Amino acid sequence: MEKWVLITGATRGIGKAIALEFALNGYNIFLNYHTNKEKALSLQKEITDKYPVLVKCLKFDVASSEEVKEAMQDIPKLDVLVNNAGIARDNDYFNKSKKEFMQVLETNLGGTFLVTKYAVPKMDEGVIINIASNAGIDDYCEYSLDYDASKAGVINLTHNFAQALAPKIRVNAVAPGWIKTDMTASLEPNFKKEIIDKCLVKRMGNPEEVAKVVYFLASEEASYINDTIVRIDGGLKK
Ligand code: NAP
Repeated sequence: MEKWVLITGATRGIGKAIALEFALNGYNIFLNYHTNKEKALSLQKEITDKYPVLVKCLKFDVASSEEVKEAMQDIPKLDVLVNNAGIARDNDYFNKSKKEFMQVLETNLGGTFLVTKYAVPKMDEGVIINIASNAGIDDYCEYSLDYDASKAGVINLTHNFAQALAPKIRVNAVAPGWIKTDMTASLEPNFKKEIIDKCLVKRMGNPEEVAKVVYFLASEEASYINDTIVRIDGGLKK
């Protein structure tokens, strides 16, 4: 039977790797993008050239109720939702305005809430996977306190939705550590060395290493895993 996954923020980085992993496993994909239409269309082509699946691009800002609600009208049925879209705005808290702080909360936390709210009616049963972060558990930093708070919120939402949607929908989250994407591309070299030193596998992770775990959690192999946060951080120490 045809299966459909919606992946938010799927134009690049971890979201793109997740889209490729689901396509490899025969899923049709609703590929959400925010601003990057060209990248969305190029990924759509890359996937459909390689795999016999359907890919539909959906433009919406996960932080906008109106846009999310409208985009969901184009989705008849969903089996899996991956709440991946996220932003980080590194800037110490003395120089961070409330507006900047709230923008991160609205995208990462508000977006996860909104997309889940409007996607659930499309799911008779299925799986939701939220992309949280180790930053929401124990990797706090004054430069990213908005991001850390948003990801702690995503973890809490995961537990809450898991309760609310059981037993038909399983809800889990992954908490990646430092993964090589645009989000981490401009890390200062000394800081990068520091985090690699703190990591037991002595390197940053690749988006594909997150995508494999996300797909596993969505699969029947993980049918008894619910309300869990899976760390993917190479054994990062504080
Ligand atoms: P990335 O390369 O910066 O990509 C972010 C994606 O989110 C892009 O596709 C972007 O779309 C989309 N996005 C941003 N704001 C959006 C909005 N308002 N509505 C819809 N889409 C939006 O980031 P990444 O590293 O792959 O991160 C993906 C997720 O993993 C995020 O939730 C992030 O917090 C989490 N994470 C990342 C790391 C890491 O080390 N990289 C670690 C832990 C957790 P456009 O291209 O259209 O702007």
